[in-house]
Amino acid sequence: MNFGFTEGQEKLRKEVHDFIVNELPEDYRGVFFGVTPHNEECAAFSKELQRKAGEKGWIAAGWPKEYGGLGLGEMERGIVREELGRWVLNWPNYVGSEIAGPAVLMFGTEEQKKKFLPPVAQGKVQWDQLFTEPNAGSDEANIQLRAVADGDYFVFNGQKMFVGEIYEPDYLYILARTADTTPKHRGLTLFLVPANLSGISSRPLECLSGQTKREFFFDDVRASKECMIGELNRGFYNAMASLQLERSFLGNPASDKRDLEEFIQYCKETKRNGKPLIENPEVRDALARMAVEIEVNRLASWRTVWRVGEQEKMGPLDYDLSTFFRRTFTTSRCKAMMDIMGLHGQLRTGSKWAPLAGAVLRKWLRARSLHAGGTTEILKVVLAERSLSLPRKR
Ligand SMILES: Cc1cc2nc3c(=O)[nH]c(=O)nc-3n(C[C@H](O)[C@H](O)[C@H](O)COP(=O)(O)OP(=O)(O)OC[C@H]3O[C@@H](n4cnc5c(N)ncnc54)[C@H](O)[C@@H]3O)c2cc1C
Repeated sequence: MNFGFTEGQEKLRKEVHDFIVNELPEDYRGVFFGVTPHNEECAAFSKELQRKAGEKGWIAAGWPKEYGGLGLGEMERGIVREELGRWVLNWPNYVGSEIAGPAVLMFGTEEQKKKFLPPVAQGKVQWDQLFTEPNAGSDEANIQLRAVADGDYFVFNGQKMFVGEIYEPDYLYILARTADTTPKHRGLTLFLVPANLSGISSRPLECLSGQTKREFFFDDVRASKECMIGELNRGFYNAMASLQLERSFLGNPASDKRDLEEFIQYCKETKRNGKPLIENPEVRDALARMAVEIEVNRLASWRTVWRVGEQEKMGPLDYDLSTFFRRTFTTSRCKAMMDIMGLHGQLRTGSKWAPLAGAVLRKWLRARSLHAGGTTEILKVVLAERSLSLPRKR
């Protein structure tokens, strides 16, 4: 593995960096810790930034040019993501550019690629992922939302939950049951369905983390058969291939590093018993541990990005540890920061006494539900089986 970047890659990094600095509002500081209360104004700003980045081709830099990308590699894709993460930003259509778009690229027909991918690359559309159901979260094979073939259509009935963000979706990326099989996961199929079809409704779902997701309901929804992505009843395998991409996300260590820099500044400026926190040996020890963990995660994430790019030469990917690290380290880091801040750390955003405007508390709360893409326990199960070759416990 080469630890350096080429001249072209460094040039791209600088371009993306300058673009973001130029676009960000002056009072952007409040968005640090990646957990700004998300409001309409933030959403409008993010969508506009996505559209402008789309004009430059950075949303899907790694995709072939004929589908709206720049034809660059995984490393370049990683550089764009790392620079975004540095400013605690993410594309609103993360599902389109990082999860469902790559699935269309891998398993879609030529017609589907030409129709669906360019608008994603241009930052003009919003997709949501609809996999989870009340009885199918970790046990994804248990999905019950039905898609029944009827002439040129599939008819959908059922429910999905924990969907989306504040943005209105144009398309829904759905894993649905198309056959009753044993084992269950062999009867699932992927679809990309317009969100405005008759019979689709949704309502907000407040999460403990402070986030608002949505529940979706499908009542005799008729979608053209052209909405099917990949082969019938192969959806589980195809979804797993795209989830692998969701789990290698370079933006996180970059934004974690930013958080730590902010927190170190806080420790320099805040006195306890007459001395700055930064002079306390226990605080210094905790800060050093956080820095080591973030660097470990950054390297693990870059290794995955590099490995995805080399897959054709080197064969199937081994397990990506970065998401597991992120879940574990974020939780312990937020707790350590809260401990250092003492009782003030429990004050919420809005209180004039809340350190860092309550941002650490918000991130700590959010660390209670780092479930998207698989919970920590499920990541451990996958790690045990795929990386350590431990036998499956039945
Ligand atoms: C903020 C957020 C965003 C999300 N975004 C989306 C989205 O956009 N689209 C979407 O489809 N879904 C989304 N999800 C859903 C997410 O994928 C599920 O929450 C996750 O898969 C877990 O499913 P569950 O909540 O039903 O928990 P369950 O599967 O019921 O698990 C409950 C607990 O049991 C543990 N557990 C379950 N099985 C095992 C096992 N075999 N071994 C050990 N422990 C186990 C789990 O780790 C967990 O702690 C999101 C969730 C959150 C919180």
